[in-house]
Amino acid sequence: MSEPAPSVPPQPEMAEAEVYAAQALDLAVRYRTPPIPRNFEVWYTYATRQNSALNTSLERVMEDGTPIESWWIEQVYNDFLSPKGLNDGVAKISRRMDTELGGILTHLQNGMKGNSKAVAAIRQVQSRVGQATDKQVIAELGSLLNEIGSQQLKEARRLGQSLNEARNELADMQAELEELRSQAFIDHLTQLPNRRRLEAELAKALERVQTAGEQSCFALADIDKFKGINDTWGHAVGDMILMKFAQILRDGVKGKDVPARFGGEEFALLMPDTSLNDGRAVVEQVRKTFGARWFVVQQTGQEVGHVTISFGVTRIRPDDTMETLLKRADEYLYAAKENGRDQVWSSE
Ligand code: GH3
Ligand code: MG
Ligand code: MG
Repeated sequence: MSEPAPSVPPQPEMAEAEVYAAQALDLAVRYRTPPIPRNFEVWYTYATRQNSALNTSLERVMEDGTPIESWWIEQVYNDFLSPKGLNDGVAKISRRMDTELGGILTHLQNGMKGNSKAVAAIRQVQSRVGQATDKQVIAELGSLLNEIGSQQLKEARRLGQSLNEARNELADMQAELEELRSQAFIDHLTQLPNRRRLEAELAKALERVQTAGEQSCFALADIDKFKGINDTWGHAVGDMILMKFAQILRDGVKGKDVPARFGGEEFALLMPDTSLNDGRAVVEQVRKTFGARWFVVQQTGQEVGHVTISFGVTRIRPDDTMETLLKRADEYLYAAKENGRDQVWSSE
């Protein structure tokens, strides 16, 4: 008998992908971002219109004919695409943990043959692997082992050593998993929560304002004349200033507040459970502290001098959506810029 013909990829998919790829290449050329794989992936995703957060972020800087700087593409990639890679990593470790847990439980069950009570307890834990969080399953497994241990069962003692090793390995995997999860939500330059994390927190805050009548406010900030700083002193000095501002912002807020890097030289601050007056006072203080700083390039001793920042602050209204809230905060920020920068504009 002859072998079945190799399957041909479905034509519509191929054609569709070709269109996206052609668009991605056009965009890369138009915005002068070399079509290396990372940039290409960003533009390809843009062309598919499947990831609206990524599209919105790019559209903020897409003005026809103006080249987009490579750091922006890199940030879009980090904020909206690489977490997918991280998520794949998370899924992989989760699967490894489930396999490991499954193995331990089967091993234990075999060792406990004849002890119907222990077998039933093991089955109970077994049924939760892959459903409950790994942390919960590990905790349950831990108490199960203690219980069996305290019954001084012969088989449990024999199994004890290898089970302990497996538990340690599981704990390592758990730590790895948590590290990966948190990386997906942190901006790598400033170590502040990134936009993805901010949006998740904003969604929760909006809900609290709507359902529990919480008073909260939200600020957007943008460093003044930052392009000039990069142009005069170089990108590394620009980065150093971004890190410094991030530190001042982090130090200037308290417990529930969520400071974040919003993108580029823009930052955001969500202040749950805070009146507009109090929120304004917080950002006013951050603005003053930052503006009072005298920047010097450490390696060369050259004096950059003062750098300022503008803020737009608003109360979160019960009828706000993420979009209306961001738009309003952005309008006040724009007003602060229009009125001379280095100031806070706010409104209900
Ligand atoms: P304005 O006062 O109106 O905000 O002026 P501006 O120059 O700050 O505004 P513009 O939006 O034109 O420039 C923002 C600049 O921020 C462009 C870009 O070079 C710089 N920038 C954004 N992100 C980074 C970054 O991660 N590192 C560095 N070094 N520069 C960045
Ligand atoms: Mg800006
Ligand atoms: Mg700026």
